[in-house]
Amino acid sequence: MTNILISGGSVAGLTLAYWLREHGFAVTVVERAPSLRDGGYKIDVRGAALDVVSRMGLLDEVRRHSTDMRVARFVDARGRQIGTMSAQLFGGREGDDVEIMRGDLTRLLHAAAGDGVEYVFDDSITALRETPEGVHVTFANGAPRTFDVVVGADGLHSNVRALAFGEESRFVHDLGHYISIFTVPNHLGLDRTEMMHPAPGRSTGMYSTARADDAKAMFLFSSPPLEYDRRDPAQQKKLLAGLFSGQGWEVPRLLDAMEDAPDFYLDSISQVRMDHWSSGRVTLVGDAAYSASPASGQGTSLALVGAYVLAGCLAEAAGDHAAAFTAYERELRHFVEENQKLAEGNLRGMVLKSAAQIRFQMLMLRLMPHLPGRNRMIERVTEPIRKAATAITIRDYRAQAA
Ligand SMILES: Cc1cc2nc3c(=O)[nH]c(=O)nc-3n(C[C@H](O)[C@H](O)[C@H](O)COP(=O)(O)OP(=O)(O)OC[C@H]3O[C@@H](n4cnc5c(N)ncnc54)[C@H](O)[C@@H]3O)c2cc1C
Repeated sequence: MTNILISGGSVAGLTLAYWLREHGFAVTVVERAPSLRDGGYKIDVRGAALDVVSRMGLLDEVRRHSTDMRVARFVDARGRQIGTMSAQLFGGREGDDVEIMRGDLTRLLHAAAGDGVEYVFDDSITALRETPEGVHVTFANGAPRTFDVVVGADGLHSNVRALAFGEESRFVHDLGHYISIFTVPNHLGLDRTEMMHPAPGRSTGMYSTARADDAKAMFLFSSPPLEYDRRDPAQQKKLLAGLFSGQGWEVPRLLDAMEDAPDFYLDSISQVRMDHWSSGRVTLVGDAAYSASPASGQGTSLALVGAYVLAGCLAEAAGDHAAAFTAYERELRHFVEENQKLAEGNLRGMVLKSAAQIRFQMLMLRLMPHLPGRNRMIERVTEPIRKAATAITIRDYRAQAA
């Protein structure tokens, strides 16, 4: 049986594990975290990704875990409401699209992948070497092993990509913005409500989703590349506090709460662009190969669809990994490119450059319910997302005996 190692047990890795098991492969997942990483923020599942989730029998469960957000409210530095819109429109969602907490999605995917998958937590690949037998893999903690194929599903800062393709700076393109997100007490008593305080070059938000006892604080800002240690949250917190000092609304309180946040996250908003996602017996999936960035709102859907297509191509190629990887790229690349295109335009709306821009956008929001071209304006927001999210029709893959 073909033996496949997946590095990374999140959306892409768990979906791939599920579908590889379905197709009859032996699957091992190595995850750096000590257990399933079930924290995180809210994410969207749209278009073709809904088909993947449905084929996994998870659509009803995913819908049951929907964040059920109701409204987005914009406030000025003194907390006065300056604009409002439905949460659906704020998230660029329509129809069947679902928003779910990332942790809920990973728990569902993990349960679906079942006991047939071998998990190795608290470990990481240290070297990959191709031999006539396959890929010889060494680990930080475990004993070396050989696999037929190795897949990097280890995110934006992929370890497998660095080992098999080279330095991250060749592939990771910073879009000139950063995002920070972490859990805070819900001191505003928000109920399925999203608050946003736009300021020139920086936006601060806070939201609380259905069934949550706490809230998330979110900081978005434009910036040239920043120098900091990615493994030093204390340094990153100091940096963020400095950048947002003097801001109004609830910003000082959120920055105070940041000190105790169990899950502080800060990173650049970046895309991964590569000419090829595969090298020899090693390939990449999800953010590791083609991060569209949080600004696209489509990273999770790309990870779900990408994993489904990769597993299908491996199954159809009957042991010919090179043919499988060629088919994977051929079938997925257009979908990836269409979704990556969404990010820059979305970012322009998420972080407004000047006070005048903020005033204009808030005025438009207040006027929108009364404007005759209202539906056309809404279409202009949702149509590009819908087109990108459905830019692939997923097909059935029939496993050929290897
Ligand atoms: C703040 C934020 C907001 C976002 N909002 C949205 C949104 O609204 N909509 C949307 O669709 N997407 C959103 N995304 C993007 C989405 O989270 C990702 O695109 C999606 O999770 C990609 O999944 P992945 O499995 O490829 O990577 P990840 O979810 O990043 O998972 C990578 C996994 O690899 C593991 N790992 C890392 N290094 C190693 C190693 N050396 N060895 C073993 N394991 C390792 C990690 O622990 C992790 O479990 C957002 C992302 C962020 C950061």
